[in-house]
Amino acid sequence: GVPQVVIVGRPNVGKSSIFNWLAGRRIAIVDDRPGVTRDRMSHLIEHEGRFFELVDTGGMGHQDEDNLTDDIENQIAFAIDSADVVLFVVDTRSGVATLDQEVAKRLRYLKAPVVCVANKTDDETFDGASEEFARLGHGRAVKVSTLQNRGRAVLINTLVGKL
Ligand code: GDP
Ligand code: MG
Repeated sequence: GVPQVVIVGRPNVGKSSIFNWLAGRRIAIVDDRPGVTRDRMSHLIEHEGRFFELVDTGGMGHQDEDNLTDDIENQIAFAIDSADVVLFVVDTRSGVATLDQEVAKRLRYLKAPVVCVANKTDDETFDGASEEFARLGHGRAVKVSTLQNRGRAVLINTLVGKL
């Protein structure tokens, strides 16, 4: 079948924004309210004759303040079963969070390659801050901003290169 690129990451880093940005249209709900269960979003993407299915699993599980990691557990479980490439999203404006470290640790046991993506790197003044994500153990992060449309071509080329 078509290779699956599965988006994972803690809430609010911009997973759904990246999904819509790469898909080229608004499908996933951005800034979703917690506690809302909805279906997994997927979209077929073509780049220079190569195809992959992009999947946003965020917001699938029950979410509340006491159990933020429920959602992440669902994402990781789906990635373990289905991902050919994992797109691990982090947020340059907030830096390395404890939950990012948890996700990073879990992703170390996957066979699929992991591409770390530093979203919200809105302009070059944030480029230095994005370097700190290398310590999550998944290489240097690809700097992107869905808001400012930065880094889209680099990201797609990186993903296609891992298929
Ligand atoms: P998700 O919970 O990981 O799916 O995150 P969302 O896609 O719902 O985005 C969470 C918030 O981050 C929303 O308020 C978005 O508008 C905001 N956001 C997404 N991408 C960017 C970006 O590149 N720069 C900035 N500054 N904010 C962003
Ligand atoms: Mg989302």
